[in-house]
Amino acid sequence: QWIFLNDEFVRKEDAKISVYDHGFLYGDGVFEGIRVYSGNIFKMEEHMERLYQSAKSIMLNIPYSTEELTKLTIETVKKNGLENAYIRLVISRGIGDLGLDPYKCLKANVVIIVEPLAIFPEHLYESGIDIITVPTRRNRPDVLSPKVKSLNYLNNVLVRIEAHLANVSEALMLNDQGYVAEGSADNVFILKKNKLLTPPGYVGALEGITRNAIIDLATELGYEVKEEPFTRHDVYTADEVFLTGTAAEVIAVIKVDGRVIGEGRPGKHTNILLEAFRKLVVKDGVP
Ligand code: PLP
Repeated sequence: QWIFLNDEFVRKEDAKISVYDHGFLYGDGVFEGIRVYSGNIFKMEEHMERLYQSAKSIMLNIPYSTEELTKLTIETVKKNGLENAYIRLVISRGIGDLGLDPYKCLKANVVIIVEPLAIFPEHLYESGIDIITVPTRRNRPDVLSPKVKSLNYLNNVLVRIEAHLANVSEALMLNDQGYVAEGSADNVFILKKNKLLTPPGYVGALEGITRNAIIDLATELGYEVKEEPFTRHDVYTADEVFLTGTAAEVIAVIKVDGRVIGEGRPGKHTNILLEAFRKLVVKDGVP
């Protein structure tokens, strides 16, 4: 396995970064997760745009143009010879001293990792998953925008710990007002009386690229889709619930905090959208 690390390709075992890197010391950096389906990189432009916007928001200078980084990403995929894979792009502030001062970090560290991925086993797409809501709150948009995909994933990590302790595969965070925000690494949709709802960005959710693809697909398929805040009550009483994400794709939720959703199996509309999504990813991508 080849890793792109600051201008060169190195073997996985040689891909090392200094302990003075501020991504390590302070979570100072940004990242992206992208999928490769049948050799095509899905929504490459959108991921690159989000990466550069995240970096701009935290005043992190990526030492490549979008075009250069796009080329390097494609090259890393090809070099690893994988037709179906997950790409992780990480840009950290770089090496500084032990102080917080980012201005002492003269050059960002750039890493591109490509590897095979299976997040949820296939049987969970058929059965659907059981989730909970947790006390960990999504950070407020006016503090650090959830639109920034930063290396600061502590609340998402805590969500995963809470899910693990409750013996479920994923969990939902609320925002500080109690509106449902998102999962640890995925967005949430509910379907109620044929209307599809997902929380708007200002509630406190990453503007997921899979989420946006599902909004477009569902609209094309004739569903009424709205970005609207909703509460746990709305989730408990929804006809269908599903999560979306680069890693998770579209996965049905059949139980939330012990409340059975719909008939306790993946809903008809979730399956329609999953099927449409899986068709889209193979035809829509950068070769
Ligand atoms: N929310 C968070 C916090 C995430 O980390 C991710 C993963 O990227 C998502 C949502 C889903 O976004 P996307 O569909 O762009 O992968």
